[in-house]
Amino acid sequence: MKADLGLRLLHLADRLGLNKVCNVLKKGRITVLMYHGVIPDNCSIDAWTLVKESEFLRQIEYISREYEAIPADQLVARSSVRSPKSRKEKVIITFDDGYRNNYLIAYPILKKFNVPALIFLPTHFIGRKELLWFDKVIYAIQSSGCNAIDLRKVGIGFIKLNGDDPASRWDKIEALLTKMKSLELQEREVVIQEITQVLKPDYSCADMFSFLEWSEIKEMVNSGLLSFGSHGHRHQILTQLPYEEVFEEIFTSAKILKKDIGVEPIFFSYPNGELNPQIVKVLKRAGFRYAFTTKEGSWEQDLDNYSIPRINIGGYDSMALFRAYLSGLSELL
Ligand SMILES: [Zn+2]
Repeated sequence: MKADLGLRLLHLADRLGLNKVCNVLKKGRITVLMYHGVIPDNCSIDAWTLVKESEFLRQIEYISREYEAIPADQLVARSSVRSPKSRKEKVIITFDDGYRNNYLIAYPILKKFNVPALIFLPTHFIGRKELLWFDKVIYAIQSSGCNAIDLRKVGIGFIKLNGDDPASRWDKIEALLTKMKSLELQEREVVIQEITQVLKPDYSCADMFSFLEWSEIKEMVNSGLLSFGSHGHRHQILTQLPYEEVFEEIFTSAKILKKDIGVEPIFFSYPNGELNPQIVKVLKRAGFRYAFTTKEGSWEQDLDNYSIPRINIGGYDSMALFRAYLSGLSELL
């Protein structure tokens, strides 16, 4: 009820033009957007982390008109970020996980509006025709369109998916993923196997959810519009690893990025947004200069380069909410 009221107030504030007022109040703070996948409108795989192509096009068109999307590399040359070249508020667009759909669907739209973006790669998976463990679960459930899954055999219970309402269906899937995150690797594998065995997913559009090829990454680097950073090597939650493995994850990904793209990797995005001071120390040693979290909010430059908040853009967000995220209006309601 409270959330409904918040949304209604937000739509009213949007119609009254309060986004413009909020932009002034931001006083130069940078908004960093976090995307994951962008999928064709007719794709049956539906998830909070996936934005439909037509929605993404509207969002990028809006940004190109109302904001100044800056390349992340401009952060390094601070004076150019600060210079009043444009009176528009600045936005940085980022993508986590390195999905092929970033190249197939998002890249043509970014090119069309000449909007730069930064993609974070889990380097081990690049060029592989496989899915991240949580995508296997999402893909199996959503492609099957099932209303319930019986996972009592593997100790997870009977999960009802709330019919056709996509957002509440997603809440149930997210709760399942959260439960699975806390499992040991092997236990988790058993649950994934059970899900795929029960649901027998059709993998015909799985290519959208596998990973970018190095040749596609190089093409995007050469366009001058896209930059790349690390999202770890095997997409491991770093806070759950012993020190040596944190070191291995960060340094291996840095080495691969340097070798395969030929640029110093200076941007990092924490898998699952989780960090601690020890991880930050390793990032600094490996040469990373900016690290992005999943903590919500806009970024006051110089506050902390290793804990940069982002705004998560989800597949169920309305255009009014998107405008409010960008202006900071959503933080006030
Ligand atoms: Zn990720």
